[in-house]
Amino acid sequence: MSDAAVAIVTGGSRGIGRAISTELALAGYYVIMNYRSNDEAAAEALDQIRKAGGDGETVRFDVADGNDTDRHMKDILNRHRKIDVLVNNAGVTADGLFMMMPEDDWDRVLQTTLKGFYNMTKPVLRKMARSRSGSIVSVSSVAALVPNRGQVNYSAAKSGLIAASRSLAAEVARLGIRVNVVAPGLIETEMIAHAPIDRIKDIIPMNRIGRPEEVAKVVRFLCSTDASYVTGQVISVNGGMF
Ligand code: NAP
Repeated sequence: MSDAAVAIVTGGSRGIGRAISTELALAGYYVIMNYRSNDEAAAEALDQIRKAGGDGETVRFDVADGNDTDRHMKDILNRHRKIDVLVNNAGVTADGLFMMMPEDDWDRVLQTTLKGFYNMTKPVLRKMARSRSGSIVSVSSVAALVPNRGQVNYSAAKSGLIAASRSLAAEVARLGIRVNVVAPGLIETEMIAHAPIDRIKDIIPMNRIGRPEEVAKVVRFLCSTDASYVTGQVISVNGGMF
């Protein structure tokens, strides 16, 4: 195992997570990319990183599942002396009007985001506390900050992520651990494949949707020592949406 700094990125195989993984790998991190089910996308992400001169590994588990996450995290933490960065990026949507929302759509969205935050952050924090350093960045959404019809579950999950991160930042600041959030606006990934982009573009001052790399660069900054006095903050990456 090399001496490179180690970053774990949940949902690192596609979309914004893949861009974050690539950005961190190019910055010299050994990147552990978690994903839930798409083996092909994960293999492609790792290949892309290696071709660009970086290194890492892929690990398949569901961050919402405590036992599954625990088992894999034990193995990861045993194999790596130190974890420098955790990016809680895995997230799902299950949009629909609240009055008609099935309980399963409520649970799935909250569990992936909030239970995922708990399942991943707790074991990593213990390791970071021992080395008295580390940076945790969670990926929230503009939907946490402005109302959005049809996304009551998603807004609740993403707002919870912000509140949890701010309180955690206050708890662990004295241990040398920083905790921050990025809140992307509309970013071109498979998650928004069915969104009416042309209509939405009109409400974005920059009149375009964002690229995953534009989120990844902000995450890389928050992970780096350039952000050494930044903690408990929410940075929006949304083309000026508000
Ligand atoms: P995406 O293209 O749908 O990719 C989602 C990634 O998360 C995939 O790697 C997926 O793995 C993984 N994942 C999903 N559920 C998981 C679970 N339970 N356990 C482990 N991995 C899981 O999504 P994206 O657009 O890149 O979004 C990334 C993050 O940004 C999400 O938190 C999302 O809410 C947030 N965000 C996105 C936008 C946007 O416009 N795209 C805007 C604001 C915020 P598999 O492929 O194996 O399922």
